[in-house]
Parts: sequence; C-alpha cells; structure tokens
Amino acid sequence: MTITCTRRIEFDAAHRVMEHESKCKFLHGHRYVVEATFKADELDAQGRVVDFGVIKEKLGGWIDEHWDHTAILNEADKPLGTQLEGATGQKVFYFPYNPTAENIARYLMEHVVQGMFVGKGLECSLIRVHETPNCYADFTL
Ligand SMILES: [Zn+2]
Repeated sequence: MTITCTRRIEFDAAHRVMEHESKCKFLHGHRYVVEATFKADELDAQGRVVDFGVIKEKLGGWIDEHWDHTAILNEADKPLGTQLEGATGQKVFYFPYNPTAENIARYLMEHVVQGMFVGKGLECSLIRVHETPNCYADFTL
C-alpha cells in the first residue's frame, strides 16, 4: 500500500532561459506553482502521511526565503545577475543549469526536500512545477 499527500505552494520569480531559441531568453516572470507529493509506508498516529502544515512551513518557508520575488538565473548568467543586484538590489538565486520548470523541480528534489521531512518510510516522490497554468514539469523518484 502506498498513500500520498500533496501540498501546493506558490511563489513569484523572474528567470530567463539562456540560449533559448525564442522569447524565453528574455528576463520575464512567472507565478510558479509547486506541488510536492509525499508518500509513506504507513500513516502516522493521527492518520496522515505528513501534516500539510509542516510541508507549508518547511518547504514553503524555504521557497519563501530563497526564491520568492527573486531572479532565478543560470550561474553562467552572472553578468546579468550582478547588474540586477547593482541596479535595484534584486535578490538573485543561481542554478548550476538553466532555470527551466524541469530544473526547478529537479533542484527542489535534489537539494531541498531531501532530509527535510521525517516519518515512517516517508519520502518525497514527486515535485511538479507549473510555470504557467498550461505548462508543468515533473521530477519523480
Ligand atoms: Zn519562463
């Protein structure tokens, strides 16, 4: 038996996709929607995979602190990031790769959620990142 629960977390950020063939190479913003799905071998004493409020507090707190209202850029895009920081005090978060929806999901799975939650057989099995209402990427384990 596998039981899952999913929490939705939203944030705003700018990004650009370096060497994109079209307009995504230009700096622009999204209202990102992250859906984090957790699975567990069994429910806790209260009947939960993990408390929705704990996901909001821990994962939502991390996203709020590190990504909300930032520019998420490829580290190869540092000249742009440095200009933004200098001109407006913009907070910039650098990825080791292009900040696509796929890589945002990957980064959350590989660097953020691991070890963040503790429970019996509890693990994050899916991170879904919506870049627009029509487009999303999934990173699964
Ligand atoms: Zn975009």
